[in-house]
Amino acid sequence: MDFSKVELTEDEKAFQAEVREFLDTYVTDEVRKHDRDTGDNFDIGVHRALAEKGWLEKEIKGAEGWEGGFSRVESRIWHLERRKAEFPWVTWGTTVLIAHSVAMFAKPELRDEVLQGIYDGDIRMCLGYTEPEGGSDVATCKTRAVRDGDDWVINGSKMFTTGAHNCQYCFLITNTDPDARKHKSLTMFLVPLDTPGVEIQPLWTVDGDRTNIVYYSDVRISDKYRLGEVNEGWTVVREPLNKEHGVVDAVIDGLDDVSILQHQGMYIAKAADAVVAEAAKEGPDGTRRIDDPLVSVRLGQSLAKVEAALASPHMFGRVALAQAMRDVSPVLMDIAGPTSVLPIDEPGADLSRAEYVYRWSPLTGIYGGTLEVFRNMIAQYILGLGKPVYAAPKAPATS
Ligand SMILES: Cc1cc2nc3c(=O)[nH]c(=O)nc-3n(C[C@H](O)[C@H](O)[C@H](O)COP(=O)(O)OP(=O)(O)OC[C@H]3O[C@@H](n4cnc5c(N)ncnc54)[C@H](O)[C@@H]3O)c2cc1C
Repeated sequence: MDFSKVELTEDEKAFQAEVREFLDTYVTDEVRKHDRDTGDNFDIGVHRALAEKGWLEKEIKGAEGWEGGFSRVESRIWHLERRKAEFPWVTWGTTVLIAHSVAMFAKPELRDEVLQGIYDGDIRMCLGYTEPEGGSDVATCKTRAVRDGDDWVINGSKMFTTGAHNCQYCFLITNTDPDARKHKSLTMFLVPLDTPGVEIQPLWTVDGDRTNIVYYSDVRISDKYRLGEVNEGWTVVREPLNKEHGVVDAVIDGLDDVSILQHQGMYIAKAADAVVAEAAKEGPDGTRRIDDPLVSVRLGQSLAKVEAALASPHMFGRVALAQAMRDVSPVLMDIAGPTSVLPIDEPGADLSRAEYVYRWSPLTGIYGGTLEVFRNMIAQYILGLGKPVYAAPKAPATS
């Protein structure tokens, strides 16, 4: 890992200024408020402006290392600046995740059409993995796709298909051979969401984010929409799953996030800074709350926990950040007092970030894999503690 500071060239400084100006112009307070109000995590105006600027194309090409994309430094600048601006990112994030699989596994006519549509801002894609009966083990998929001539007929339902209502395609895991071993039973499709038989119903989470339950009833699509080989879906889905789970090593040039959930981590860091600044102000009686050891110790512990989480790599960072959000947000609310529950557009609402993070943090320990699953993975694969056994311990022998 290279910890040295990156010296920006004149061109990179100019790019950074251009990014800041773009974000100031388009990611306005209204956009952020709309995002909080709808829980959409997507804004069509910002998206179209990005397409027009050519930055959707450059981001994907940069992420894939294709010609014409952002350089590594430009990508880093773009990611850091838009995170600071609280850019509504989820639907674009799922689209970027899936673009790689489209490029690798789609038939040429579908691949070219979809990639161009993404660059133009007309096509977005969502993840159709989780089902009502479970999501941790995505390979136990029950949504069926059955071949019928040149078509496939899909029946089933998917939970938590975030962004489906703003997307044109769903990257759908289906079961095409219920008798096969689970990793040999899957086939991936890019399902056009305007196909008859697709029904999207909204679902709001406790932090106000919108996700969806999507029903597939006799959805008939052409074989053109299949990605990869029949029953070889695991090969197609493995890479985007690994990226989403954060089990991909950061590149050692220091220009990658050390772990996923850094965007979420930025919110708890900002919430902590706001509460520290407030506690350091003199009150009407001339005292500062931060001088009370009960306050300073709790704030100090919270800041240390957030910093350690932000610096932890790979799946350790994923677990540490989700846990730090859960642990630190109630402490911050406690110290901020009643102001911590102000709506976002009220004066002094900076402190309400703590309350928002408090509602958000449980979800960060669920989506992209739960904390329990990741703790088991760390125990099993990194600490070498063996596979967890859930069976009841054997009763001791009586004679
Ligand atoms: C806000 C939000 C957005 C989401 N967006 C998407 C999306 O866009 N697309 C999508 O497909 N999914 C999405 N998900 C679903 C998410 O990926 C799943 O919720 C997650 O994988 C867990 O699956 P589950 O909820 O079915 O829990 P289950 O798998 O049913 O697990 C239930 C409980 O058992 C525990 N558990 C399960 N297996 C193990 C194990 N091996 N070891 C220890 N404990 C275990 C879990 O930790 C959990 O506490 C989203 C979820 C949320 C909350």
